[in-house]
Amino acid sequence: MTRTKYIANLIEEISTKMPITIEHNQKYRTVFALNRNIAGFNEKIKKMVFTLVFSKMEGAYVWDLDGNKYIDISMGFGTHLFGHGSNDIINNLKKQLDTGFGLGPISEIAGITAQQITELTKVDRVSFFNSGTEAIMVALRLARAFTKKKKIIVFKNSYHGTFDPLLTLKSDKKSKIGIESIPGIHNNLLQDTYFLDYGTDESLEFIKNNHNEIAAVLVEPVQSRNLTLQPFDFLKELRKITEEINITLIFDEMVTGFRISSGGMQEILDIQADIVTYGKIVGGGMPIGIVAGKSKYLDILDGGFWDYKNSSCPQSYTTFVAGTFCHHPLSMIAANTVLKKIKENKDIYTELNYQTTKFCNETNEILKSLDINIELINFGSLFRFKVNGINKLLYYELLKNGVYVWEGKSCFLSTCHSQSVLDELKEIIVYSAKRIPHNKVSV
Ligand code: PMP
Repeated sequence: MTRTKYIANLIEEISTKMPITIEHNQKYRTVFALNRNIAGFNEKIKKMVFTLVFSKMEGAYVWDLDGNKYIDISMGFGTHLFGHGSNDIINNLKKQLDTGFGLGPISEIAGITAQQITELTKVDRVSFFNSGTEAIMVALRLARAFTKKKKIIVFKNSYHGTFDPLLTLKSDKKSKIGIESIPGIHNNLLQDTYFLDYGTDESLEFIKNNHNEIAAVLVEPVQSRNLTLQPFDFLKELRKITEEINITLIFDEMVTGFRISSGGMQEILDIQADIVTYGKIVGGGMPIGIVAGKSKYLDILDGGFWDYKNSSCPQSYTTFVAGTFCHHPLSMIAANTVLKKIKENKDIYTELNYQTTKFCNETNEILKSLDINIELINFGSLFRFKVNGINKLLYYELLKNGVYVWEGKSCFLSTCHSQSVLDELKEIIVYSAKRIPHNKVSV
């Protein structure tokens, strides 16, 4: 079969399988602006460019509006560690709905949840926001307030959400300062951000040489878009250097937190960052962003600890943060439930990480034996497909054959991905890969 014919067939198969879902995307495009709708847009395959619309989610599965069932390996962008619809999360959310989920007075669960996080991650203090982006924004504010310096270091290929100073794909070769590349993010918003290569000695040198102006180094310890790069010695050195020269080390554990181990990358590497940000899993599917870390930083939010029983008063100067929906009662009860489950089942990480590695290795062996140039690369229970050229159509094949991968392509397993689900998943991946006419022309 020619490539053109193959693609035409694939489009026809998908259009026939999910007409209601596709029509839904079309119908609301006039009023609902959603950039995920043009991820990977290509005129030749535009009929396959749409976002899955769900009618039901359960365990490791989602169903679309047409009633088709898919194995979900997106799992809420890595959020649903315990699968969709975990009973205890839902039951506790229902109880909270009955009790009330109003704003103003704080939920009695918020403090308890902060305590749980300190126990699992060894941070001193915790503060709650609404999204990862917001947590990163606050973490950088705290770093600047603490160090009284301005510049921040971000590493290329990392993702830290949509805060303006972190958003560009370009930087000046010599100065390392960000250059505008995204409409609306002007150079003046990027002028305090240095974009460096991750894991190199040159980057460490740059940080040392410019320490007088650097407030923070923001790191995604294992970048979810580049899982093979694991510069752990670099991170240890980075910790040492930043400690010596008054630079705030921020670990962005939005993805790795509560996924790789209960203590995240800090625990795996035995590194204590100054500030750590969490989100996703810990919210159990409800919106959340967490800034946690050493007291000397978190105290800048509220002045630090003081006591009714003696003459103590807030000791720290404070910056400003606020948010109508911060520590929302529904997010707090969901987080409280997730953290309890993690505390009671710390072994899940050994098992889930092992199962994911085994699954990826076994699938890779089959693909290799078939001479198919597609590889699964994992870090713990997070994995990505390495695909090039026409093999990029794999994602559409998977959709057609019953596996859902979101537009950003990071894949995640949950505790609901049992051996039988993984066997089925492996079969679908291999079947899908085999259907693609393989050679090097890209689409
Ligand atoms: N940091 C990392 C490492 C992330 O992966 C993400 C989201 N995928 C964010 C920050 C931003 O989080 P949010 O989407 O909740 O704003």
